[in-house]
Amino acid sequence: MSPYRYCCGQCRASSPPTPTRAESEAHRDYHRATVHGGLVPDGDRIDRVTGDAARDPDARYLSSRAVLIGIGLFALATVISRVLGR
Ligand SMILES: [Zn+2]
Repeated sequence: MSPYRYCCGQCRASSPPTPTRAESEAHRDYHRATVHGGLVPDGDRIDRVTGDAARDPDARYLSSRAVLIGIGLFALATVISRVLGR
């Protein structure tokens, strides 16, 4: 499933990819309300994103941190099993 992304043609800005169209519409509504005072900017749209653009950099950061936590837990389990094995 390709995620969705809101793009504002006036600001040349885009939201992070979201798994559902409704979430991108929420980004659109928020952007219109905060940046454009509730008006609809020319050229704003909701795109389907594919490939590298579909990856959320924040999610990638979280997953690499999860790997580090996993390595830490493995090291801790190794230490505990050595202590208990004595
Ligand atoms: Zn805008």
